[in-house]
Amino acid sequence: MNKDLRKTVIAGNWKMNKTRPEAKALIDEIKPFAAGSGCEVAVCVPFTNIETVVEAVKGTDIKVGAQNVHFEKSGAFTGEISADMLVETGAEYVIIGHSERRQYFGETDETVNKRVKAALAAGLVPIMCVGELLWEREAGITEEVLARQIKLDFAGFAAGEVKRTVIAYEPVWAIGTGKTATSEQAGEACGLIRSVIAKLHGKAAADAVTVQYGGSMNAKNAAELLAQPDVDGGLIGGASLKAADFGEIIKAAGK
Ligand code: PEP
Repeated sequence: MNKDLRKTVIAGNWKMNKTRPEAKALIDEIKPFAAGSGCEVAVCVPFTNIETVVEAVKGTDIKVGAQNVHFEKSGAFTGEISADMLVETGAEYVIIGHSERRQYFGETDETVNKRVKAALAAGLVPIMCVGELLWEREAGITEEVLARQIKLDFAGFAAGEVKRTVIAYEPVWAIGTGKTATSEQAGEACGLIRSVIAKLHGKAAADAVTVQYGGSMNAKNAAELLAQPDVDGGLIGGASLKAADFGEIIKAAGK
């Protein structure tokens, strides 16, 4: 399937940054870059900023997302937010299984699987993160690690559910480190993810699913990374907090 037929998604991950007035100022600066960009632009912001940003993007095509969601509908889960609660705020996307959540908050493939399932059931678009650690790449087991994550994170999913999920390939060693995967490494890993999906969930799902690259993507390296045939967009941390840099990435994706 032609890459042009898949949705290119450029998503910002603001992580735990920005007060509400700061969020409003940043999104106002981003808006002009998103207009007529030719790709889907989303910003995944702290829970407390969602409504502010949803209000600010009214009348534009920018989508707003969260950075985590719980898999239960309600109950005694102190500190967690359900998918229905997110929908109520106007959020349309949600990042799930980011390496920081896996590393600092005990996220596992089992909980990622449940969270993605819950997000889809509520009508949200999950951005499901997978990626290898540095020692795993150095040990030559990247392929194995990605295949295992895709298998477990999508266990029990129908092809239609896989298709509606955005996958972010994020080599953990490249996140927030300034070390970017080469465009060949990124393209190869995204292609590998697609081939695992083809094997487990069918070619139609593999051809249709959006696979982003994430890991120190910036205004300078975006065009080369996004030119790879299996890279359908980016999940961007640091550079998404600077409107001009994020704007350059959006521009590169829209070409
Ligand atoms: C991320 O947080 O998903 C990310 C890719 O961060 P950065 O762009 O800062 O490496």
